[in-house]
Amino acid sequence: MILRVHAGARAAARVLSRGPGPGPGQGLGRKGWTVLTVGDLCRCLCTSAVLRKDIIKDLEERLSSIKQTALDALPGSSWSPLQINPNLPPERADIVVVGGGIVGWSVAYWLKQKERVRGEVRVLVVEKDPTYSQASTVLSAGGIRQQFSLAENILLSLHSADFMRNINDHLGVLNEEPVDLQFNQSGYLFLANEDVAHIMEENYKTQRYAGAKVSLLSPSQVKEKFPWINTEGVALASYGLENEGWFDPWTLLSAFRRKAISLGVIPCSGEVTGFQYNTSSLTNQDGDLVTLRRIRSVKWFAVSVASWLAVDSLRAVSWGSHCG
Ligand SMILES: Cc1cc2nc3c(=O)[nH]c(=O)nc-3n(C[C@H](O)[C@H](O)[C@H](O)COP(=O)(O)OP(=O)(O)OC[C@H]3O[C@@H](n4cnc5c(N)ncnc54)[C@H](O)[C@@H]3O)c2cc1C
Repeated sequence: MILRVHAGARAAARVLSRGPGPGPGQGLGRKGWTVLTVGDLCRCLCTSAVLRKDIIKDLEERLSSIKQTALDALPGSSWSPLQINPNLPPERADIVVVGGGIVGWSVAYWLKQKERVRGEVRVLVVEKDPTYSQASTVLSAGGIRQQFSLAENILLSLHSADFMRNINDHLGVLNEEPVDLQFNQSGYLFLANEDVAHIMEENYKTQRYAGAKVSLLSPSQVKEKFPWINTEGVALASYGLENEGWFDPWTLLSAFRRKAISLGVIPCSGEVTGFQYNTSSLTNQDGDLVTLRRIRSVKWFAVSVASWLAVDSLRAVSWGSHCG
């Protein structure tokens, strides 16, 4: 995928010059790249011998600075082209994740986790709001349960609970603080009246079959366990005995983000505003032609992203920048 940023070619050139580069004849620090212009060379050829010597010396200094920067870029050095201008997204990425909420960072993490060779896939996560003021993730209660009616949901949730119980095996980062999700497994309690008690029983069977530790309680058992609950009208209750409760969503989001970045995911701050296309189909890894179709989603923001995708294929993405 080719990424295009609003700032355009001039900004891209600044990737090489790291800010306002020194003018002709000025000395160079070791800090950054510089660009030799045609003007520099012309000046060199059209001036007196003494001045020409000075200009040649200056050009040599610049060349040695470029050489040093290139040397720094070799494996083993801490230099990274992405750090040259942190305000620009990279020119190219294999996968761009739009939105750095829990889903975005989890997807980015798993993509890197599953890559066969380190660095095989270049993943970018673009988040428009670094404060996450409107993000569902941080507004959520952070509740987790297995009391669903569909086996798929129950299995997904069981897997998530297992992941969270062993969070540091998955998201721990060497030499960093361990993740403390504050996972409180106090269980969910569902209450049913006479009319829906049979549905609760059905769900209970599905849940147990899928491996969830759930128990059914009579109204008197509910009263005994939770004396403060008014059980009037309650015919049946179901209570999660394990893997249900709540955790801190911000901690989980931060842990996914931290781990994904440690695996090489590139975080970008900016709003994705659209896609540009040049074809209606792409070739996948096996060489098969894939026709791109509209993505359907219930989330409003995903709907708007999907509507951009409705036309042809992914070719370029544009956004207001800030990358790092
Ligand atoms: C009040 C509330 C309580 C909830 N309680 C629970 C619960 O107890 N348990 C549970 O499992 N789930 C709960 N949920 C649901 C859960 O929070 C969401 O399903 C989950 O957080 C969705 O994550 P997300 O990453 O898809 O979305 P978000 O967290 O909303 O992240 C989307 C991100 O995308 C960014 N973005 C959007 N458009 C662009 C763009 N064009 N360019 C760049 N960035 C963009 C946004 O800024 C945002 O940060 C709750 C939700 C709410 C609102």
